[in-house]
Amino acid sequence: MSDEWFSSKRDEFMRWLYDENRRRGLSRAVSSYTAARDYALACLPHLEKTRKEVRKIKESAIEQMDELRRIASERITESHGNAYFARDAEEARKIFDELVGSNKTVVKSKSLVTEEIHLNEALERKGNKIFETDLGEFIIQIRGEKPTHIINPSVHVPKEEVARTFSKLVGREVKPDIPELVGFAREYLREKFCRADIGITGANVVAAETGTLFIIENEGNARFVSNAPPVHICITGIEKIVPTLEDAFKVVQVLPPYATGVLMSAYVSMITSPSRTADIEKTLVYGAHGPKELHVIFLDNGRSRMLRDPAMKEALYCLRCGGCMYECPVYRVLGGSFGHNYFGGIGIIWSAFTAGEESVAAAIDACTKCGRCKEVCPLEIDVPKMVECLKSRLVEKGYLASRHREIKENILEKGNPFGE
Ligand code: SF4
Repeated sequence: MSDEWFSSKRDEFMRWLYDENRRRGLSRAVSSYTAARDYALACLPHLEKTRKEVRKIKESAIEQMDELRRIASERITESHGNAYFARDAEEARKIFDELVGSNKTVVKSKSLVTEEIHLNEALERKGNKIFETDLGEFIIQIRGEKPTHIINPSVHVPKEEVARTFSKLVGREVKPDIPELVGFAREYLREKFCRADIGITGANVVAAETGTLFIIENEGNARFVSNAPPVHICITGIEKIVPTLEDAFKVVQVLPPYATGVLMSAYVSMITSPSRTADIEKTLVYGAHGPKELHVIFLDNGRSRMLRDPAMKEALYCLRCGGCMYECPVYRVLGGSFGHNYFGGIGIIWSAFTAGEESVAAAIDACTKCGRCKEVCPLEIDVPKMVECLKSRLVEKGYLASRHREIKENILEKGNPFGE
């Protein structure tokens, strides 16, 4: 096997290591996050108990993933929505293709799953215009980059670069003043929400017993995206389904402090059906002020395989808070290059199952297995153990760079890494 898989990643690492702008953006974000999270956790001591309950909820929900998907789909259909199941990324894109069609205006609110299935590229090929409305996603969409953090996708872009990006977009100077930059995005995106034909979101958690989608956010854009256009399409992984509303509320309590260091997110939207009214003669009509159509796509794409893999199924408990990334010493310097479509140690596992093992064969070497991610994870997910197991599987499959193979042979033959 040639070393191409290894050398291209090494070059990517080098580009990150010597990119002052990205390093500056990352380090500013890390210090703001940790102080905020510590404060939030100190204010909410009961979360210590809740996060343990959430771990138990996830352990049991994951074992019933198929059954919970069936129940959630039934409830969504009973409530006049449409539920779909996509076994892989291709099936999911096909469903979108049928629902969206061509030449539409689409507004999106941050959805990692749409990155996982490369949705934007597929929709754009059909002449659709896509507007990312989460500020971080909006920034990287204009810059033509990929997200580098699961919660804060433009974490590597400092304010000076954001100002340059916005100035270029509109052909006038936008100052590197953070409130002004946020105001710019608000003005620019406002009319897009109202003009859009379709809104696409993810979901942070789904309650099977009622088919309710929970969308947790701070900016208020997900509310617009899921409410202003006449059609709302939600895509979410099957691991996000929990049995009851009560279980979902527990997840809602744990996520915000760990994800963004707030006591509670500014908005939690609960969506159970298309908008409806029975105010005239008690006759039920769908499509009042909100969308007339609701479509929910449950995506597998490697998740069932993860469940059947005893050494890896713990990764399915991940709430995608992203907290472990800010604490990871490797992510702090390598940022979005440490992973593939998901980042950090947990991202290595997720990328391996959703994009293929080769996508992380080189990045996995960067993990120091220091264990910091497990310490800070609200669900105490043992990421280092999974990374170690995946690494040995990859080596068995031949993913060992020639330099590393040489060192290994030297140790075996000469007892030292230098072959002396
Ligand atoms: S592994 Fe834990 S800390 Fe990291 S994103 Fe998932 S839930 Fe959050």
